[in-house]
Amino acid sequence: MKSLINKLKNSHAVAVFSGAGISTLCGIPDFRGPQGLYKQPDAERIFDIEWFRRDAAIYYRGCMELVYGLRRFNPGPVHHAVARLEQAGIVKGVITQNIDMLHQKAGSRIVYEVHGSPLLHHCLSCGRAKTFEEICVMLESTPVPRCEVCGEAFKPDITFFGEMLPEKAFDSAIALAQKADLMLVLGSSLTVHPAASIPSMTVRAGGELVIINAQPTPLDGIATLLYPDLAAFADAVLDAWSEGTPR
Ligand SMILES: [Zn+2]
Repeated sequence: MKSLINKLKNSHAVAVFSGAGISTLCGIPDFRGPQGLYKQPDAERIFDIEWFRRDAAIYYRGCMELVYGLRRFNPGPVHHAVARLEQAGIVKGVITQNIDMLHQKAGSRIVYEVHGSPLLHHCLSCGRAKTFEEICVMLESTPVPRCEVCGEAFKPDITFFGEMLPEKAFDSAIALAQKADLMLVLGSSLTVHPAASIPSMTVRAGGELVIINAQPTPLDGIATLLYPDLAAFADAVLDAWSEGTPR
């Protein structure tokens, strides 16, 4: 870990790429893990845009706990470590596959959510927007939150199967990856494409790759450093950069 801390101190622009592994540390089930959503009946319909248009209740029923229960969860040590590194001017942005909004809760300001986000919901028909909190309030009295103007369902800005990835977040993520001199992969097995190809762009642009993940990833071969233990990384960072310390 010492060599990683030194590497971070000597980098000018660090990008973070995060996945489910950093959130399972806070008790949030991995969508693809054994407790995750994809084990539920109806699983492949829940995040399918065609099914959502047909019957939005499938999504809202399936995600009542997993998405709208996210209010109960707090960021974990890795989220805090990443936010601390941004405050110290080392991390220039976070690219995340997660839809749990925990980086923002921990204080990270530059977050590119490449699989979308439930932070905003839009009416399928007129495009009217509601915040996550507004939708949570509506769900207390209705199974499917609907637009007060046209009666259509509100859909979260999470990227569903059958939808394009969020173009703006994706383009910004690629720009960040290409200008970074160090890409730090945290808790992603780098298997869900195309987002998982982003870290290799840093290497192709001449930067270095460091991967911290419990399992091997397809990019291990081009990484400079590999670590299995996310909690040890968070401890080392929070130890090296105590609150308010400039780099
Ligand atoms: Zn509407």
